[in-house]
Amino acid sequence: MIGALAIPEAGKRATGSFTFADDPGLAKYQWPYIAIRGKRDGASILITAGIHAAEYTGIEAAIRLGRTIDPSEVRGTIVIIPLLNRPGFYERSIYVNPEDNDNLNRLFPGDPKGTWGQRFAHHLLTEIVTKFDHAIDLHAGDLIEDLTPFVIYRETGDAARDAKIVAMANAYGAEWAVKSAPTGERPGSLYAVAAISGVAAMLAESGGRGLLLEEDVTRHVRGVTNILRAIGILEGAPDKVAPPTVVGSFDWLRSPAEGMFHCGVRVGHRVRVGDIVGELTDLVGQPIATVRAPISGVVLFVVTSPAIKKDGLLLAIGAL
Ligand SMILES: [Zn+2]
Repeated sequence: MIGALAIPEAGKRATGSFTFADDPGLAKYQWPYIAIRGKRDGASILITAGIHAAEYTGIEAAIRLGRTIDPSEVRGTIVIIPLLNRPGFYERSIYVNPEDNDNLNRLFPGDPKGTWGQRFAHHLLTEIVTKFDHAIDLHAGDLIEDLTPFVIYRETGDAARDAKIVAMANAYGAEWAVKSAPTGERPGSLYAVAAISGVAAMLAESGGRGLLLEEDVTRHVRGVTNILRAIGILEGAPDKVAPPTVVGSFDWLRSPAEGMFHCGVRVGHRVRVGDIVGELTDLVGQPIATVRAPISGVVLFVVTSPAIKKDGLLLAIGAL
């Protein structure tokens, strides 16, 4: 057992569901999982997705990995939880979990006496995530986001763990990497708190806009498969992929006013500091604001819905 997850005997795959039985608010839900135990002993890895419930390429890639990895080729244990934001999936929730309207990926390490999301984060981290040697959290652009594929990781100061984390991130095959710093990172992310808590953890982004595009799903499946080979959990030599370019910072642009956002850039575009990246108008078409790039870099994601609140997220640039 790992937490409430039953792990099969050596050489087998098992599917099932688990809950957090001692918390009635959480125990309303069951979380599906797939566990694969190799014939031989080795390291353990947790693959999660759907902490943002409408990031479908991550969810589908996790399910597909769970169904297709051959236990006879595994050394160690692979556990896959394809949908962390269980309350949000059929609600098609964007960013948040409908139990408390918080972003679950800002709440780690959580609080056993807190809100639904804080309690979920606490139980998931302490009972499951920290029992693993490695962890990968699969994302996409949300229902109203487009992105160019990238990985995110955080260094911890522990040289051995950081070497494992960088090896994982380099094996995914993304063009870009965001290396979040202990200062200035968005706090409470699963991958970051897992890393601080002793797990070699990272996050990968592929796809978005609520679309289940095959090339985006395949990118995640290939990326994770190559990581599993690179860290020795899956048989076979990893493909030699170019390591990602690590951006210098990850700037999230927010809107100075509410209005219609006319985005002037696409994901993957290079921008220079001062370039116009979009225009805001009001609902009779009057210009409100011109949005300019605060730094030079690459556009890593854009919000595809033009309906923007004041301080609403517009796009993100990775500094180059
Ligand atoms: Zn996400």
